[in-house]
Amino acid sequence: VSARLLDGRALATTLRADLTTRVGRLERGAHPPILAILTDGAHAAATLYAASLERAARSIGVETRVIREADVVALERAAAELNAEARVAGIVVGQPFGDPAAGRRLVEHVDVSKDVDGAHPESAGRLARGEPAFVPATALAVIAVLEAHLVRVAGVRAVVVGRSAVVGRPVASLLLARDATVVICHRATRNLAEETRRADLLVAAAGVPLLVRGDMVRPGATVVDCGINAAEGGIVGDVAFSEVEPIAAAITPVPGGIGPVTPMMVLRQLVEAAERS
Ligand code: ADP
Repeated sequence: VSARLLDGRALATTLRADLTTRVGRLERGAHPPILAILTDGAHAAATLYAASLERAARSIGVETRVIREADVVALERAAAELNAEARVAGIVVGQPFGDPAAGRRLVEHVDVSKDVDGAHPESAGRLARGEPAFVPATALAVIAVLEAHLVRVAGVRAVVVGRSAVVGRPVASLLLARDATVVICHRATRNLAEETRRADLLVAAAGVPLLVRGDMVRPGATVVDCGINAAEGGIVGDVAFSEVEPIAAAITPVPGGIGPVTPMMVLRQLVEAAERS
């Protein structure tokens, strides 16, 4: 037996078509939204994220404005200007910053109503309280992939490996809001395999290549891999795909799973923000 593949590329294509239509409608209504991206250019990962967002935005007809500036105070001023500009429907801060604390402070200068990557502490607080909020895109992508493939979440035992603010925590909140029983594992978890083996739904978001091995997965589980780790010959996930795939009922590939859906989730939140205003 082998697992059902939870394909993110096909879903991204469907989402792109829907968003393109909605952007067209906004343009006819004279409210074409702009996506602004702020980055200090210090980290390759942030530069790559900005580039993939730009590409995705262009693919649905959304204009982008990328502000790349090493001086964080200048970026804070830029954020204030973008907050005041009606056509700018969304502002994304490309993390990580050279100085991570400066990156976090910059996020707090973004108006919460334009926080389309769910990075502002107020957005995170609303999400944690189970209230409507902008959500970090990777976490939303996990839910979108599960929903598109009709994977049951309500009542299942979900185990999330990782507790970062961008993936683990928001995924756990979203699963909880959808009535899963959620366990969050992290670096100090005593027996990781024992926890993951109890999962009906296992979400790997640790940023550790091939952390989840075959013997850590219960036969018939659904496995979602959020990992994007650079390796020789491409990227690898947090899940040892070749070991887990024969055991799981369903699994996201890397690449081609959560990755292609993530920028579409930023854009979906952008379009929703523009439609509301
Ligand atoms: P990401 O951006 O993928 O969420 P971070 O580095 O911000 O990555 O966070 C990694 C998370 O994964 C942390 O919460 C950490 O506790 C967890 N983690 C890292 N290594 C392990 C491990 N070996 N076992 C369990 N959890 C781990």
